[in-house]
Amino acid sequence: MLDALTRRSGMIALEEGGNLPPLLYYHRVAPGVDPDTGPVPEIFDRQMGLLKSLGFRGVTLREALTVSGHESSGMIGLTFDDGYEDNYEWAAPILEKYDFRATIFCVTGVLGQKTAWAEDPRWVGHPLMTPDQARDLSRRGFEIAAHSRTHPDLTSLSGKALENEVSGSRCELEDLLGEPVVTFCYPYGFYNDRTKEAARKAGFLAARSTRRMTLGKREDQFDLPARSISGEMSFGRFALTVAGYRLMEGLREPVSPSWSSGVGR
Ligand SMILES: [Zn+2]
Repeated sequence: MLDALTRRSGMIALEEGGNLPPLLYYHRVAPGVDPDTGPVPEIFDRQMGLLKSLGFRGVTLREALTVSGHESSGMIGLTFDDGYEDNYEWAAPILEKYDFRATIFCVTGVLGQKTAWAEDPRWVGHPLMTPDQARDLSRRGFEIAAHSRTHPDLTSLSGKALENEVSGSRCELEDLLGEPVVTFCYPYGFYNDRTKEAARKAGFLAARSTRRMTLGKREDQFDLPARSISGEMSFGRFALTVAGYRLMEGLREPVSPSWSSGVGR
C-alpha cells in the first residue's frame, strides 16, 4: 500500500509538471577529508546555514519529486553518493540542526565495508555506513536510496548483470529498511539508455546523474541533474551557486515523465 502511495504521489507531481527543485550532491564530510572528496564539517555547517538564511529547506530527493508546481519554491534536494560512514557521524547531525534531510545513495552489497572500487587512492579505504546506521537514518527521516550493489560502471553491463546491480540493489535495501526504495543514482554518473531502462524496469521513480542542470531544458526523471559540491569549492562560489538557484526559481522547466509508462499504474 505504502509502495503504491509513494509511487502514485510521485507520478502525480511529475504528471502535473512539478518543477524539480535544484539538487546538490556530496560524497564525504569529515575532519581532514581530502578536499576532492568533500568539505570538512565546519564548512558543510556554514553551507547549510547559508541555505537556511536564503530561505531554502534541504529535502530528500524523494520529497523533491513529490512536490508539485509552486510547492517546490525554497526547496533544495541534498544528496550524498556512496553512503560513507562519515555522512552518519558528521553530515546527518548538522543537517538535523537546520531541520534539513537528505538522500544517501548506498552501495548495497558493501554496507559496513570500506571503499575498494576506485583506483585513485583518495577514494579508497573509507568506511561505508553499516546496515544499522542506514536503518537509523531512515527512521530519522533521511532517504536511504540505491547506488548499485558493487559500484560498477553500469554502461559496461547488460542483461542479467545489469539487472542484478540495479534491481538487486533495490531489493536488498527494501529488505533492510522495510519500506519502498524509489530513487537510484548511477555510479560514476555513467548512464545510457540501457541503464535508464534498467532503472525504470526495477521500479525506481527516478534516477540522479552527475550532469549539471540546463535552464530551459525539460528534465528527464531518469537523468536528473545535480551540482557537485566538493571541498575544493570556495564558500563564495557555493554562495553564488545557491543564490543563483533562488533567482532562477520559476525559470526551470517541468520534469518530463518520459519513462512513466508502467510505473505506479
Ligand atoms: Zn558513487
